[in-house]
Amino acid sequence: MNYSLDIERTAAKKQKPAADRLGFGKYYTDHMFIMDYDEEQGWHRPRIIPYQPISLDPAAKVFHYGQTVFEGLKAYRTADQRLLLFRPQKNFRRLNQSSARLSIPSIDEELALHALKQLILIDQDWIPSKKGTSLYIRPFIIATEPSLGASSSTHYQFMIILSPVGSYYAEGIHPVKIHVETEYVRAVKGGTGMAKTAGNYAGSLRAQDDAAVNGFAQVLWLDGVHRKYIEEVGSMNVFFKINGKVLTPALNGSILDGVVRNSILELLQHWNIPVEERMISIDELHEAYDNGMLEEAFGTGTAAVISPIGELHSLGRRLVIHGGTTGELSAKLYDTLTGIQLGELQDELGWMVQVS
Ligand SMILES: *Cc1c(COP(=O)(O)O)cnc(C)c1O
Repeated sequence: MNYSLDIERTAAKKQKPAADRLGFGKYYTDHMFIMDYDEEQGWHRPRIIPYQPISLDPAAKVFHYGQTVFEGLKAYRTADQRLLLFRPQKNFRRLNQSSARLSIPSIDEELALHALKQLILIDQDWIPSKKGTSLYIRPFIIATEPSLGASSSTHYQFMIILSPVGSYYAEGIHPVKIHVETEYVRAVKGGTGMAKTAGNYAGSLRAQDDAAVNGFAQVLWLDGVHRKYIEEVGSMNVFFKINGKVLTPALNGSILDGVVRNSILELLQHWNIPVEERMISIDELHEAYDNGMLEEAFGTGTAAVISPIGELHSLGRRLVIHGGTTGELSAKLYDTLTGIQLGELQDELGWMVQVS
């Protein structure tokens, strides 16, 4: 399909930061993608413009009622200078699913992927090549109608911005300490937990900050009804290896359908490792631990890929998992996924999309 995309190139390119000082989400490239929506024209005027501040009316609905959705994915530069995206179709599909929940009009997923590739090509010098670095991609939609009426916006903007990011694990993959949250909940079935939307994040910060004060990297979220079944860890999906079998909470309407989660399920099946998606209670986890069967635990998401859980503080107990070190399966999954993403390993499952 041939999409007409207006491109305005910047006259003043920014200086690029050193590869070892990138951090996460601190620097942005020279250009951005933007497209508008109104009721008469639908989505229109897709264009690439110099990266710049946007001007919004203070009454824009996104500020007051949080009608917004976002995505997060990465582009990688391989050793032989190819530019690869990891399963980007899944992100634009999920963006539309999130939008449907937030009553935001859907975008053309093919147009979005085409625009993203164009944007990456224009700013390709920004994709770092140092081991562990990548280009983080943030597509998002905001409600822009200047009205305090508490109803769906009539106007939106869809944007994509790019940020070169450093290695999540500067000193190699390492396990973290997690607090099992019993006061606050992240989401309930019927709510917005399955959508990638700002409000879910705003609502999780209190618990996250309290946990951080007590030395925890993140919280483990339990379901909002029974306060018993495991849902996610921070803003990651969560997996456990119990007695040789891999378990992850089934998608139940309040859990985010992670691309990394889905990829791990596919890899485990490919490797003939038994895996189950089902409800997992915190009691079952304690029992497995007491029987010496809780072998590994890890979170999954685009930013870290795999984040091993070394300690779980749960209902007054301290569970030390795999001696507080990274488990063999966690390490193998991490090495395999990052190896495929960097083009070092054969992409047997057909996940990578080349930018050009
Ligand atoms: C984005 C996100 C994830 C991870 O999704 P990936 O597609 O694997 O990056 C998990 N949980 C929540 C709440 C998220 O927002």
